[in-house]
Amino acid sequence: RCFVHWFRNDLRLADNTSLSWVVQEASRASKPVVCLFVISAAEWNQHEMAPAKVRWLLASLESLKENLKERGIPLVVRVSESRRGVPKVVVDTVSELGAEAVGWNWEYEVHEEWRDHTVMDSLEKVGIKHNGMHDQCVIDTSRVRTKEGKPYTVFTPFKKTWIQTIVKNAHLVKLRDAPTENTAPISDTLAAKIETLSTAIPGPSDPLPAPYTESDNPPASVTEFINKTFAPSEKAAATRLATFIESRGKSYKDTRDFPGKDLTSKLSPYLSLGLISPRVCLDAAVKANNGKYDSGNEGLVTWISEICWRDFYRNILIEFPRVCKNLPFKPETDNVEWNYSRDNPLYIAWCEGKTGFPIVDAGMRQLATEGWMHNRVRMIVSSFLTKDLGVDWRLGESWFMRNLIDGDLASNNGGWQWSASTGTDSQPYFRIFNPLLQSERFDPDGHYIRKYVKELSAVKGKEIHDPKGRLGSAYFAKLGYPKPIVDHKTASQAFLAAFKKGIGK
Ligand code: FAD
Repeated sequence: RCFVHWFRNDLRLADNTSLSWVVQEASRASKPVVCLFVISAAEWNQHEMAPAKVRWLLASLESLKENLKERGIPLVVRVSESRRGVPKVVVDTVSELGAEAVGWNWEYEVHEEWRDHTVMDSLEKVGIKHNGMHDQCVIDTSRVRTKEGKPYTVFTPFKKTWIQTIVKNAHLVKLRDAPTENTAPISDTLAAKIETLSTAIPGPSDPLPAPYTESDNPPASVTEFINKTFAPSEKAAATRLATFIESRGKSYKDTRDFPGKDLTSKLSPYLSLGLISPRVCLDAAVKANNGKYDSGNEGLVTWISEICWRDFYRNILIEFPRVCKNLPFKPETDNVEWNYSRDNPLYIAWCEGKTGFPIVDAGMRQLATEGWMHNRVRMIVSSFLTKDLGVDWRLGESWFMRNLIDGDLASNNGGWQWSASTGTDSQPYFRIFNPLLQSERFDPDGHYIRKYVKELSAVKGKEIHDPKGRLGSAYFAKLGYPKPIVDHKTASQAFLAAFKKGIGK
C-alpha cells in the first residue's frame, strides 16, 4: 500500500499543500509516498497550450522526477490519449499501486473541475480516500468576501480584504517544507509495479506528444530564448525570486512599465506550472518589506499587488465560470459586434507584427521570437487589437495562449477582458490606449522597438515611434516597414460606436 500525490500544475516539492498532506498521512501510516503525473496532451491542446509551454512542462517534469528520486520518492508518469480519459488513467493507476489515499491541488477551470470530480466519484466507488486541496492561490479566495459574503468583482477592495484575510489567517499561508526523504521504503513488489506502469518523459528531441504534430514545434528562436532564460527547475525559480527581490524588487514600481529595461521578475512561467508557489513569492516580498503588505517600500508593495492580481483573476474564474466558456465577464457586453475571422487581414497583420505601429509590432514579435511578452506591451497590443482593429478579444486571447510560455487561462482571460472593456476593469469603455503616446511614454528611447523590429533598428530619435508620420517618405519607403494599417482616431471612433450599440447606449 502507498499514498499518492497527483501532480498537475504544481510541479514542485516546496510549499506544495497536497504533497505535504500526503507525506503526513503516509508518515502516520508508515507507508511510502508515490507521485503521479498524467501526460494528457489532448487536454493541453484543447486548451491551446503553446507547444513551447508543452516542451517546458516536460523538461520541468524531468527535473521534478530527479528531485523526487534524490529523496527516494518515485514518480509514475502515465499517458492519457484522450481528454476525457484522464480520470480513468488516474483511478486505474492508483488502484494498481494499491493506494490508500490520493491527494491533489485543485484546478479551477470548468473542464478540470469535471475531471477532478469524476476522479473523486470513481475513487469513492473503489474505496480509496481522496483529498483535493486549495493551493494555487496565496489563500483560498472563497475566504476573501465582501461584508455581504459575496465575491469581489473589483480589484482594489479585493486586495484590501485579501491582505486582511492573510494577516488574520497566518496559519493558512504558512509555508510547507519539501519532503527530504520517503516516509517508508518502497517494497520490491511496489517498485516492480511502478516500473511497469510508468512511461518515459519525452525529451527535447522526441516528437511532441499527440495530438501535437511535428509542425507545431516552436521556432528555434523561441526554444533558444527559453533555454537561455527559463531553466526548467524548482531551484531556478527559487533563485530567480531571491535575485529579483534583492536586486530589483525595491525599484519595481519605477521600472516595471518599461519593456526596454526588462526588469520585472519573469517568474510567470514558473508560477503558471507551479514550479514556485505564490505564497513563497509573497513571503519573500513581505519579509524584504519588514513584514508589511501595503506600506513601506513602494516597489515591493507594487509587486505584492501583482501577486494579488493573480489571485483576483482566479477568484473571478472560480466565481464566474462563464469566463471559461468564451463569455464576457460583463454580460451586457455580450452583444458587442467584434470581427471574429481568423482570415481578417487586420488580425493577420497583428499576429505577424506588421501593423505599422512600432510598439505593437515589437510586442508581437517579442511573443513570436521568445514566447513571452512584457506586461505593459501585453496591455498595449490587446487594446490595439480590440479597440483599434475591432477584432474579437477571444481571438487575441487564443493567439496568446497558443504562443505564451506562461499562458494561463485566468490571468490571460482577465487581461484580455480588461483590455476589451468586457471584464472587471472599473475604467469606462471609452478609455482607449493611444499606441503612439504609450510608445513615447514607456519606450522613450525606442530601445525595445529597435530590438524587435529589425527594419527600424537604424532609425534614430523620436521618429522611431511613428516612422511613417515623422520620416521623409523616401527614407520611410527604403525601410521596408509597413504603413499603419488603420488611423488610430478613426478606428477608435468606430470602436466606440460599435461598443455603444452593443451595450444599447
Ligand atoms: P511581474 O511583474 O514580476 O509580476 C509577478 C507575478 O505576478 C507574475 O509572474 C504573475 O504571476 C503575476 N502578475 C503580474 N501581473 C499580473 C496581472 N496583470 N494579472 C495576473 N497576474 C499578474 N500572466 C500570466 O501569467 N499568464 C498569461 O497568460 C497572461 N496573459 C496576459 C494577457 C494580457 C492581455 C495581459 C494584459 C496580461 C496578461 N498576464 C498574464 C499578466 C502579466 O502580463 C504577466 O503575468 C507578466 O507580464 C509576467 O511577467 P513577470 O513574471 O515578469 O511579472
